[in-house]
Amino acid sequence: MVLFDRYGRPLLHLRISVTNRCNYACIYCHREGSWNDFKLNIRRELTPEELHVIAMASTELGIRKFKLTGGEPLIREDIVEVVSAINEVKPLDLAMTTNGYYLKELAYKLKDAGLRRINISLPSLRRSVYREITGVDGLSRVLEGIKAAIDAGLSPVKLNYLVLKGYNEGEFWDLVNFARETGTILQVIELQPEGLGLQLFNTLHSDLANLEKKVKEKASKVTYRKHMHNRPQYYVDGAIVEFVRPICNPEFCMHCTRLRLTADGKLKTCLFRNDIYIDLKPALKSTSPVEEVKKLIIKANDLREPYFKPTDSHLKLKMKLNELARE
Ligand code: SAM
Repeated sequence: MVLFDRYGRPLLHLRISVTNRCNYACIYCHREGSWNDFKLNIRRELTPEELHVIAMASTELGIRKFKLTGGEPLIREDIVEVVSAINEVKPLDLAMTTNGYYLKELAYKLKDAGLRRINISLPSLRRSVYREITGVDGLSRVLEGIKAAIDAGLSPVKLNYLVLKGYNEGEFWDLVNFARETGTILQVIELQPEGLGLQLFNTLHSDLANLEKKVKEKASKVTYRKHMHNRPQYYVDGAIVEFVRPICNPEFCMHCTRLRLTADGKLKTCLFRNDIYIDLKPALKSTSPVEEVKKLIIKANDLREPYFKPTDSHLKLKMKLNELARE
């Protein structure tokens, strides 16, 4: 079975934040939309057993693809157990996004535990720019982590290149070369107005439309990831390049197939929505946790809606930016 929301969008993915903790201090971080938890320093994290229950309930409702994020997932001491616990439900996909700092040590263990593929944040190939953006002098460790992920057989390995005006805009073709040489996929991401990204949006946001247009013209082939926001993938200069451009993009929202889970166990319907949180913790403590969690997933699915709709896209962005003025 598969659940559909009021807009006919199937629910296929769960994006799970496994921790709010992070060893980096990226200037742009949206904190997966859990900004308030960070401000309040909420540290409660779901255990591998609780995550297993949620994965079981999800699977029974047709959600068979999971992505682990954070904070930084790899600073959880039990991250390998977390991956194993979710892998026990035999997911169709089990992926992670990480800054890669601890990947060299963990890549093989994660692969053995059931992780299939990985996204590694790589905002710059220049040591000083990387440090300025992330707050950590970690580029060489991360490059080793990328190699370890490839060697361990995680596939595909994707490089998340978040483009920031005045910092790394000029590095696109260097990163395309790096992706080609390493056999990785380059994911070019537009800054989103959430968390620190909201506070710096007007200064750091780079509109990727022109860059994408150039890449499209040069590409030998284009494919679309239908159930992943209909994102285009371009085959260019021997590399695969994907663009993630959600801002004022109804097409992106119309093809959204996910729910989000915060590190302390709340379902969230959209990165940008901070008014809908459905707490799974009471259900997890009940006598039939899988059944109770399923009811809450169904409730959350009924509340899903595209954030940017064709008629009000730009208005929504203005409202988002106004949130900052009110804080
Ligand atoms: N610490 C991990 C990492 O660095 O990948 C996982 C958490 S991070 C929040 C997950 C992804 O969100 C990263 O690929 C990062 O580039 C992206 N991201 C963070 N803040 C963002 C923002 N304001 N706009 C767009 N993407 C953002």
